[in-house]
Amino acid sequence: PNLLDVREYERLAERLRHIATSPVHPIPEETLARMKDDYLAKHRKSYDFWERAKGSIPGGVEHNLSLEKPFPLTMDRAKGYKMWDIDGNEYVDYLMCGAPIILGHHYDPLDDLIIDLIREKGPCTGCTSEYEVLAAEEIRKLMPAVEMVRFLQSGTEACMAALRVARVFTRKAKVIKIGGSYHGWSDQLVYSLHIPGTGPLEAAGIPLECFANTIDVPPNDFDAARKAFEGAKDQGGVAAVIVEPVGGESGTHPVHPEWNRHLRQLCDEFGSLLIFDEVVTGFRVHLGGAQALLGVKPDLTVFGKIVAHGYPSAGALGGRKDVMAACSGTGSFDKAYLGGTLAANPISTAACYHALRLIQETGAVEKAAAAAGKLTAALNEVFATRPELPFTAYNYGPIVHYETTGFLHVRLDDPDALMQHMLRRKVAQEYQMVAISQGLFTLAGTRMYTCMQHDQAAIDRTVRAWEYLLDLIPKG
Ligand code: PMP
Repeated sequence: PNLLDVREYERLAERLRHIATSPVHPIPEETLARMKDDYLAKHRKSYDFWERAKGSIPGGVEHNLSLEKPFPLTMDRAKGYKMWDIDGNEYVDYLMCGAPIILGHHYDPLDDLIIDLIREKGPCTGCTSEYEVLAAEEIRKLMPAVEMVRFLQSGTEACMAALRVARVFTRKAKVIKIGGSYHGWSDQLVYSLHIPGTGPLEAAGIPLECFANTIDVPPNDFDAARKAFEGAKDQGGVAAVIVEPVGGESGTHPVHPEWNRHLRQLCDEFGSLLIFDEVVTGFRVHLGGAQALLGVKPDLTVFGKIVAHGYPSAGALGGRKDVMAACSGTGSFDKAYLGGTLAANPISTAACYHALRLIQETGAVEKAAAAAGKLTAALNEVFATRPELPFTAYNYGPIVHYETTGFLHVRLDDPDALMQHMLRRKVAQEYQMVAISQGLFTLAGTRMYTCMQHDQAAIDRTVRAWEYLLDLIPKG
């Protein structure tokens, strides 16, 4: 389930390119001005709070996933699939904290356990706790390729750790990163983000030398991947390939069904390690992660927020026992130096252990995937009422993508590529502003995560919001 065969993949890739090269359909200026007024009227308290935030926080916003235009919203609380802002507006939430929430927000059976833990034992001692071991064992049980686990504090850290451990283990230097993928914001990995081939475009403040050992390979380019391995042979060799297994940015750039297997084979041939970044996909697309769906075994697996179901300080690196031995203990000079004062704290590891148990007990992954399937079908049905618009939706289990302007599918060799990207992003943001005013919260105007509590009522409200939005786009 949830994986595309070659024909479906090719059809989807073609469709996404079609969207990125079709004319955009902006909301007319006058209507848009009315929508902006509406957004401001509905979010007055958020606006005032943003003005206040700008006094203490650069730009007044720090969450990458907040909508920045016209201004970010301040949230008050969340429950199940719903979220409320400080003006009291209710949303059908598809951000799900950026993926980790799959049981639903503020899930009492989980929260009760964590609150009891804090009351009875306190948040953290800086020493090993029982939950650390229970959580590591639970992950191992679900993912056979993970024989050992090291907890860290974020996905960014876990990706950084993966590269370091891979280099210690293989004694090789280069790391292959796939264009358009996101692996956090560490120095070596802010490269070719969002649009493949953009290199250091978003790397302000990072010396170019930091990328000396980062090899950028375009997604699904089988020949380029082989050439990268061959080219690196005399330059220190490839320590690892790091990859988002369902495609860059959680499937925004869909993966060719043979891509992961091809990378696995190249790693085996050249003595390199395959790293799956399962920060979003682990325990979401399948209890065994994308690796279980794909049937491809990585040497190392990176986890982030997904291991603590929205509780803070969450990240982990797991993998083969012999490889993970490269980061054991402290005080030895031949091991990868990793740390984190709050890493593996009792709150995060208890949240990990209990969330994983609850996800299994409730069948959360299957339920969230079923909701996502219905949502995708419902969206495509609404889009079909306006055949002149190229919009489309697709999903990898409980990860739903929808494309309206294709701003992430512009290619660098397209005429006016960056202008096109910016124009298309702007129009998608305008759609998103209207969607938010209609009570629909999504990620970056292109992505929606479901939890097990998204029901028919949530989908119906989503469809109504889209009907409203489509009515604003002129016909013909
Ligand atoms: N890898 C992937 C695939 C991600 O989606 C993210 C964050 N969304 C990260 C790494 C970085 O994780 P964090 O934000 O916890 O540093």
